[in-house]
Amino acid sequence: MKYSVIIPVYNEEAIIPELHRRLKLTLDTIGMEAEVIFVDDNSTDQTFSIIESLHKTDQRFKIIRLARNFGHQVAITAGMEFTSGEAVILMDGDLQDPPELLPSLLAKWTEGYQVVYTIKKSRKENVLKRFAFASFYKMMHIFSSISIPMEAGNFSLMDRKVVDVIRSMPERNRYISGMRAWAGFKQTGIEFDREARFAGKPKMSIKKLVDLALDGLISFSNAPLRLAIYVGLVVAAISFIGGLYVIYEKLFTDKAILGWTSTIVAITFIGSMVLLTLGVIGEYIGRIYDEVKQRPIYVVKDKIGL
Ligand code: UDP
Ligand code: MG
Repeated sequence: MKYSVIIPVYNEEAIIPELHRRLKLTLDTIGMEAEVIFVDDNSTDQTFSIIESLHKTDQRFKIIRLARNFGHQVAITAGMEFTSGEAVILMDGDLQDPPELLPSLLAKWTEGYQVVYTIKKSRKENVLKRFAFASFYKMMHIFSSISIPMEAGNFSLMDRKVVDVIRSMPERNRYISGMRAWAGFKQTGIEFDREARFAGKPKMSIKKLVDLALDGLISFSNAPLRLAIYVGLVVAAISFIGGLYVIYEKLFTDKAILGWTSTIVAITFIGSMVLLTLGVIGEYIGRIYDEVKQRPIYVVKDKIGL
């Protein structure tokens, strides 16, 4: 097998026929031996029966069906386990990642790059979401211990070697673009205009997106923990100076005690800092707990064509 395409799908019945049409055209133009693995993240609509009928007419289309909804990143992880291509391409199933870009990805790979990621030149989401994405990538850039390219999402090609590295990473909190950057190898990016979703509503809820952003930041950076320490130090310094001043006032002036406001301010401020710090530590401990449980990352219900 020359290359595999992994497409996670969750309730995408409205899109799959069009996705199939454009993807099939592209696969046929490229002409290399290919397989497409749909990972059905336990859809509740007709998604599964549609992809099942695709498989019947074209054996290149294969299916993994997860036992429940595990989320986008885990669905991709599951797909990776079953690929046999020398190169693996990840793309979304909502046509925001145009199949027509596949030849360019493969061209870079034949040039000798082991990771070809894509950079979104433009997005069609609303202003708020665009702002949120931009801030997330900026934060990742500043805080992360490895350099994760800005605006590079899941849509990418990886050589078999890189896929095997990611497969060997046992962590449960999976942030694939981070893991891909972590793996290293010879990487390059190509730009594209991200289209709007072809049909239907986004299947990644705001909560799922925020969770993913937190996974990314916390799994690939100790900065949040550090931040707690820095904030703690600054607050300690401020209260030390404040304390000196209060003692000075007490000993060398005859001002009455007028401390109520400042006491309350100090208590609430320090209280909130303590809670914040505990929250940060809790996040890491929660992740440690997840990892030590050693549960499988996903459960497969059905396999078709694999
Ligand atoms: N998806 C999935 N499981 C989920 C949510 C989404 O497999 O729990 C799939 C979805 O069908 C789509 C891709 O992941 O193919 C990206 O989802 P979406 O377009 O909703 O995300 P966004 O583009 O808003 O980040
Ligand atoms: Mg989308």
